[in-house]
Order: sequence, then C-alpha cells, then structure tokens
Amino acid sequence: MSELLVQEEAKKRRTFAIISHPDAGKTTMTEKLLLFGGAIQLAGSVKGRKAARHATSDWMAMEKERGISVTSSVMQFPYKDHIVNLLDTPGHEDFSEDTYRTLTAVDSALMVIDVAKGVEARTIKLMEVCRLRDTPIMTFINKLDREGRDPIDLMDEVEDVLKIRCAPITWPIGMGKSLKGVYHLYNDSVHLFDARHAGKVLEGEVIEGLDNPRLDELLGDQIADLREEIELVQGASNSFDKEAYLRGELTPVFFGSAVNNFGIAELLNDFVEYAPGPQARATTTREVAADEPKFTGFVFKIQANMDPQHRDRIAFMRICSGVFKKGMKLRQVRTAKDVKIPDALTFMASDRGHVDDAFPGDIIGIHNHGTIRIGDTFTQGEELYFTGIPNFAPELFRRAQLRDPLKMKQLQKGLSQLCEEGATQLFKPVSNNDLVLGAVGILQFEVVAQRLKDEYNVDCSFEAVNVQTARWISCDDEKMLNQFKTKAASNLSYDHANELVYIAPSRVNLQMAIERWPDIQFLSTREHG
Ligand code: GDP
Repeated sequence: MSELLVQEEAKKRRTFAIISHPDAGKTTMTEKLLLFGGAIQLAGSVKGRKAARHATSDWMAMEKERGISVTSSVMQFPYKDHIVNLLDTPGHEDFSEDTYRTLTAVDSALMVIDVAKGVEARTIKLMEVCRLRDTPIMTFINKLDREGRDPIDLMDEVEDVLKIRCAPITWPIGMGKSLKGVYHLYNDSVHLFDARHAGKVLEGEVIEGLDNPRLDELLGDQIADLREEIELVQGASNSFDKEAYLRGELTPVFFGSAVNNFGIAELLNDFVEYAPGPQARATTTREVAADEPKFTGFVFKIQANMDPQHRDRIAFMRICSGVFKKGMKLRQVRTAKDVKIPDALTFMASDRGHVDDAFPGDIIGIHNHGTIRIGDTFTQGEELYFTGIPNFAPELFRRAQLRDPLKMKQLQKGLSQLCEEGATQLFKPVSNNDLVLGAVGILQFEVVAQRLKDEYNVDCSFEAVNVQTARWISCDDEKMLNQFKTKAASNLSYDHANELVYIAPSRVNLQMAIERWPDIQFLSTREHG
C-alpha cells in the first residue's frame, strides 16, 4: 500500500466525540449528524429513535429499563469528501472511565450546551479531560427554539468557567418563539429557521448578505436590530483563529436546534473543513505520525456481547498510522505475539459491517477471546506502546459474595473478563482469598451483578468491605519494594493485570503509608500496557 494513499485517506478522516451534560441533546445531535451523512433515513422523533435503537441493537435489559446508555458505540459516515467517525460515549456518570478512555481515541470534540442551562457539571468534567490532551473543541449551543439565555452571557460563561476563548461562527436571530434563523458571520449568509423540515437535510431558505433587501422584507423591524447586533458581536468577540482552535485555546461557537435539524449544516460544513484529521500520538519510544505507512493502533475499549446471538467480545481499536487490511497479521506488543485478524468490524452508522481496508482515525472492532486488554498496542512488529490510556483508582469497593460456593470458577472467570473490559476493577488481596471489586460509580456493581447472572449464570451479591481507596505501587529499588511487600502485606493486593496495588481502609492510613515509605510511588492512575 503506497504511502500516498495512507496520507490521502488519513487527511479525510475526522474522528470525534460529543461531550455534554445529560439532556443537552447529544443523542438528538448524533442522529441528525447521521442524517446528514446519509447514514439513516428519517428517524422520527428522538424517543422513537431511542426505542428503535434499543430494539434493534443488543443493549442490556437493564439499560432498556433505565433508559441510559451504558455501552458506547462508533458510527462512521461520509460527508463532503470526508469520512467522519463519531465515537459515542456513555451518558451516565458512573461510566465516566469509559468516557475518559474514549476521549483518548478522538482527535477533536463537539461540546453541546443547552441554551437555557448553560455550562453544567458534567460538561465541566469532560472539558477537564479534553484539556489533558489539548483536544480541539467546537461548541454547539442547542435548543434555540426555546427561550434561553442571552448568547453573549452564555459565551462569557463558557469563557469564565471552562477557560477557553469563544469565537462565534453563527449568531442567532431571535430565540424561542421569535427564532428567525442564524447568521453565519464568515459566509455572510442568513439561514432562515423553518421547524417543519426537521427530518430532512435541506431546510429553510438561505439568504446571502446581511444587507440583502430580502431580509428587510422577511424580518421587518427585527433587521435593523440584527445588523446592529452583528456589528457589535463582530467588534467585541474573538474572531476565529484556526491555530488557536487546534491548540485547544479557542472554541468556535455555533447556534441551532438539534431536534429541528437547524444550524447543523453550518456546524458540519465547518467541522469537516477545520477539525483536525488524525494527529500524531505519543508512545513509549517516539511520536507516531498518522501518515506513516506502517500500521499502529491501540485498544481503548472492550465491549461484551454486542450481539447476544454470538456472545462475542469486541475490542475497539483506534488506528493511529498505516493501513489495516483484512486478514492482516499484527503484533500484539504486550504479549509479543503476531496475531492474524481475519474479520475486523467497521461501524458504518451503527450497522456492523466487515472491513476490507481501514485508515488512520478509523476504529475497527476485533473479536477478542480474552487475550486483548484495554490499552494494548498493535503494530507491524515495532516495539512501542501508546501512552495516555489511563485506569483510574476506584473510589468504591465491594467484596463479591457467592450464593452458591460451587460456582467459584465461573465467578472468577466472569470477573476477570468483565475487568478486562474495564467495566470494573478486580483486586485480590495478598493476605486472604477475597475478591474485591472496585468501581468509580455505584451503578457499575449493579451492572456487574446483572451480567454475571445473565452471561455466566453466577448469582452473586456485593457487600461492604473495609477499603476506601487504592493506589498502584511502583518502585525502582527492588530491595525496598520487597521490604514494603513484607511490611505492608495486609494492605496489598494484585489487580487483574497482576500489578501491585495498595488498598487502604482510610485516607489517613494511605497518607501515613505514603509518609512512611518515601521511596515507594503510590499512583492514582495506572496506564495500561
Ligand atoms: P442527551 O441526554 O444529551 O442525549 O439528550 P437527548 O438528545 O436525548 O435530548 C434530551 C431532550 O431534549 C429530548 O427530549 C429531546 O427531544 C430534547 N431536545 C433535543 N434537542 C432539542 C432542541 O433543539 N429543542 C428542543 N426544544 N428540545 C430538544
């Protein structure tokens, strides 16, 4: 495969995720973006769509009951000579670890904000994660068909709270009942709002030029105010600076209404034009550029039983460089084994199809029979690991309690597989035979219990255990480490990857251990690999 082809294909890719607070409109936005990509037919209402998705895909029963999206998926669609990869992130807070890792696999993000609510708690958290890698962010202020806050106030809030400069690209003309349209500050065109066309790609009239007499005709008294306001906005706000956007210092802001499919064309057109393609990525040895001819990629997510008929587990791999070809042999760097990948999956708009070729920025799904872990790097032989795919120290701990003691084997198998997926973390204390589970959110325990029952036929409950926090242990001095292992044995355990972890009954205990052992590192995240 020629280097040129990889370069060309890489350049077309736009791989991103949506970050937002629940209810701001992420699902609706996803659906409309897919509509533009020609990926789905008119989908009806969001509710209908959500229900239909539940019916056709294979989400867990619990997920259906609660109406939350525990699993996340990947959707690929073409748009204007580009290939867009949208990585969905779970909406529920308890699954934020999964979200963090998904955000390591994107090149940019789209922040969706509710015009009435402004910056909300989860947006702040997700923005912090994006900041770790200076991920470029575009902003869509949603629900303009409802009364909301003053656009200037909203942008001030984004700047103050999220510490990122705002550059409006479109500007709303009215809001709520008086919403007339949006004005594109750079194309000098007005896109009129027409709620009746919500399900179609082409909606509303587009009028070129703010001084077009047609606007006087249509907007009457409103036009003079609009012209004045635009002049003010142009004078007082930041102008779009592509480099600052790419550095993650400035966010271009668009206004619209996702449910009415309004303002999204403007966003998507500028998104494919300005959002970054696949970026160079750091590894343990060197930076890997996207247009290198040799294949590299890393696994950021493992998901079980996407298809209950097949009981498969799929590892989601982000391609960082080179080309993936069907049937290719790849080196799994951690195990130093070359494995043939006969049937990778691609994710064309939620239908899983089979891949022939895939390029940097693309996500492929590979069947996992328990040998692949989150964070695994695959190459064509080169010894390197992609860095920055973290495992977070859990905050909540429970001891697994079997109802039927004869099912110990199944329990161990189930737990170790669920841990591989990153659904929860397993700790085996050095000093006893407990199986201690750690999670970031309480819902994870329920999911694990449910899945153990459904998928492994194990009835198990989780009870309180005297652990409050955990830290991964690292120390270059082997003698010191051995001494520590002996002295602190009652607080030590191994995680599922056999890494040593200090589990503390209280924060005070942890603090004392840290002070007592200055040469030992107590780490709150562990990188996979
Ligand atoms: P998510 O939780 O972020 O995925 O949000 P959803 O896409 O499920 O949207 C939450 C609610 O807001 C749903 O009832 C949507 O129909 C509604 N919604 C989404 N976009 C708009 C919009 O532009 N205007 C109005 N009025 N409602 C919207």
